[in-house]
Amino acid sequence: MVKLEKRVLGRTGLNLSCVGFGASPLGNVFGPVSRDDALAAVRRALDLGINFFDTSPYYGGTVSEMVLGDCLRELGVPRDEIIVSTKCGRYADGFDFSAERITKSVDESLQRLKLDYVDILQCHDIEFGSLDQIVSETIPALQKLKEAGKIRFIGITGLPLGIFTYVLDRVPPGSVDAVLSYCHYSINDSTLVDLLPYLKSKGVGVISASPLAMGLLTENGPPEWHPASSELKSACRAAANHCKEKGKNISKLALQYSLTNKEVSSILVGMNSVKQVEENVAAALELLNIGEDLDLLHEVEAILEPVKTQTWPSGIQQS
Ligand code: NAD
Repeated sequence: MVKLEKRVLGRTGLNLSCVGFGASPLGNVFGPVSRDDALAAVRRALDLGINFFDTSPYYGGTVSEMVLGDCLRELGVPRDEIIVSTKCGRYADGFDFSAERITKSVDESLQRLKLDYVDILQCHDIEFGSLDQIVSETIPALQKLKEAGKIRFIGITGLPLGIFTYVLDRVPPGSVDAVLSYCHYSINDSTLVDLLPYLKSKGVGVISASPLAMGLLTENGPPEWHPASSELKSACRAAANHCKEKGKNISKLALQYSLTNKEVSSILVGMNSVKQVEENVAAALELLNIGEDLDLLHEVEAILEPVKTQTWPSGIQQS
């Protein structure tokens, strides 16, 4: 049987499955998910070679972490066979990147996840905090947690790509191990590509999330809260309909598009059912056949051309 490809994350030595399990849906972020469905999805993901699971205390107000922790414990997964990342600094009640809060937060996350350590702890959506605080206070506090053995590696996440260069240009080399970018490596927006040489030069591993643009590139469409403009939403709907008329699923095409660049170690897809897990792993295994779908990809790109690279505001004005 063909195995799901693993890719090394920067200089961490972590070998991530190229498709990672985004656990935000387990926090009911995209609609309700039963415990049975969550457990079945995680079990199937493990069976099919997914070893990377990403969550956050923010997703579903801690529900995602709790459900993921329950599933991993119930399935009795050996700790060294999985890579678990969670986040700090963004919570249901707001943002707080202070050393005090994130130090407390990691203990709470470990308790919910029922783990002794997480593989990657990421500062969640740093554009909503002071980037100077991230550099001078948050990352040094995370270093201490690393020394204490509670986390193995340090990451930063967010939407505007400029936040990554701002922070990485100001922290001591090697103090940030990975970045998690989202919605910037999809058919409608692949601007992360331009940043890859810089990230490589900094020795930082790259994770890209939301290949389906948080539901825009799915047949069901995005959730109510999706921040895209109506123009972007309707262009994506037209692209999804076009694929459907051709007997194809836009989600598969979108995931395959994101997976083609091996400089990105893992593509995190949000999944909440066995069906989605199986479809997404199958898409990755069929990657080599993308040539057959190249015409369709070009047609979809043409439909999305008027909204190409269109994004949405995120974060606060940095002084
Ligand atoms: P996504 O683009 O992965 O889309 C998820 C949506 O697509 C969900 O509704 C899911 O049910 C659906 N879906 C998944 N597979 C499908 C398939 N085969 N067919 C049809 N629909 C399918 O967006 P996301 O969940 O926001 O991103 C993935 C993960 O990345 C998150 O769960 C989270 O772990 C991480 N993430 C992190 C950040 C951050 O740190 N700031 C931001 C976004 C995402």
